[in-house]
Amino acid sequence: MPEESVLIIGAGQAGAQTAASLRQGGFNGAITLIGDEPTLPYQRPPLSKAFLKGDMTETQLYLKPDEWYKAQNINIQTNTKVLSIDTVRNTAKTQSGEAIKFDHLVFATGSRNRQLALEGATSKNVFGLRGIRDVTLIRPHVGPGKNLVIIGAGYIGLETAAVANDLGTNVVVLELADRVLARVTSTLISEFYENLHRENGVDIRTNTQVSKINEQNGIVKSITLETGETLPCDSLLIGIGILPNTELAADAGILCNDGILVDANARTNIPHVYAVGDCAKRNITPFDRMGRLESVHNAIEQGKQAAAGILGTLQKSPDCPWFWSDQYNIKLQIAGLSTDYDNFVVRGSITDKKFAVFYFKNSELIAVDAINSAPEFMTAKKLILAKAAVPSELLSDETQSLKEITTRYL
Ligand code: FAD
Repeated sequence: MPEESVLIIGAGQAGAQTAASLRQGGFNGAITLIGDEPTLPYQRPPLSKAFLKGDMTETQLYLKPDEWYKAQNINIQTNTKVLSIDTVRNTAKTQSGEAIKFDHLVFATGSRNRQLALEGATSKNVFGLRGIRDVTLIRPHVGPGKNLVIIGAGYIGLETAAVANDLGTNVVVLELADRVLARVTSTLISEFYENLHRENGVDIRTNTQVSKINEQNGIVKSITLETGETLPCDSLLIGIGILPNTELAADAGILCNDGILVDANARTNIPHVYAVGDCAKRNITPFDRMGRLESVHNAIEQGKQAAAGILGTLQKSPDCPWFWSDQYNIKLQIAGLSTDYDNFVVRGSITDKKFAVFYFKNSELIAVDAINSAPEFMTAKKLILAKAAVPSELLSDETQSLKEITTRYL
């Protein structure tokens, strides 16, 4: 291919992967990777896990060291925000007024935290958890004798609760829905996590609405619930989901609908413009359903797809979506999408905290939630992707070896 140039907006997991895959695929042209954060691209999962706990340094979060970008001749610009795009003249304008030309453009702009629409939600001791800076701000507020209130019992809220609790903080988690993780999993797994947190001393409250954030001089002191109860609060973490960063693309005339719409090559409606990671919405294999996936696996897979699209090479067919969450000593691994399941079976022991829930729709295996059960996760991932017709009773029967099931049904 002639020496073309690629501009990647957003130096996160998906942007960095796109750059790496382009070089691995033999792209010799100029690659510019622009990010508005001050650091090199880094992994976000440890932010609510080992990094918050203090078990990892900032440098250990980086996906690649600085020398790697130099060696790969990737022009990385941190602390730089792209403000507008012209897809006819193929230029991007940064906040410093610089105009960057490109032949191919990749949106890897990620997502941002949803804000809580309540007075006091912008006080100094109210946090979200999305970047390194957030963790740096939260850290002084966790520890013995401190009261942390978390609004939202999704993965980030619960992972933060686990770490803060381990560090001796008094943690209360408030959830509007009738169970934790309601958007992403079954009642059985929600109950498992509610029990797990309660056993560890976290005060989990479902069906609970905050009516007032009580602050003095811009500092939250307490939270009043709809019931009238008041909870002491030294800091407040809001974890009520994310919104994709699509505005830059939409303003440039790229089709968006709760995500930048892309095909299997991560291509938008404009052929030389791509979108990858949290900001993109695509057809999800093997479910044939448009959706956004907020995961490392998705960011990596789409980064590879965009690189293949630019290189004009054959790309690997998409994998089954997967995700993980670490809370206390429990590793949850998820494959597939369990939304709309009409049946499920359990393999293993809930009491021993080592089990897997297999979800089915019209007798087809569509997802697994595996608790401390890596082999069940790996097996299900392959079976889901292959749309294998495995009888549910085989998966729930621990006398049936997973290896034999795989051999028989793949
Ligand atoms: P991001 O990593 O968000 O990167 C996008 C970058 O683009 C950001 O740096 C942003 O500031 C920048 N940007 C946006 N607009 C502009 C602009 N106009 N100009 C310049 N730069 C711009 N996933 C898992 O699979 N497992 C987990 O356990 C897990 N845990 C997580 C824990 C936390 C606390 C968080 C926040 C996320 C977690 N995730 C997890 C999700 C996963 O990290 C994300 O799905 C992944 O980081 C998405 O990568 P991305 O490159 O699309 O977006």
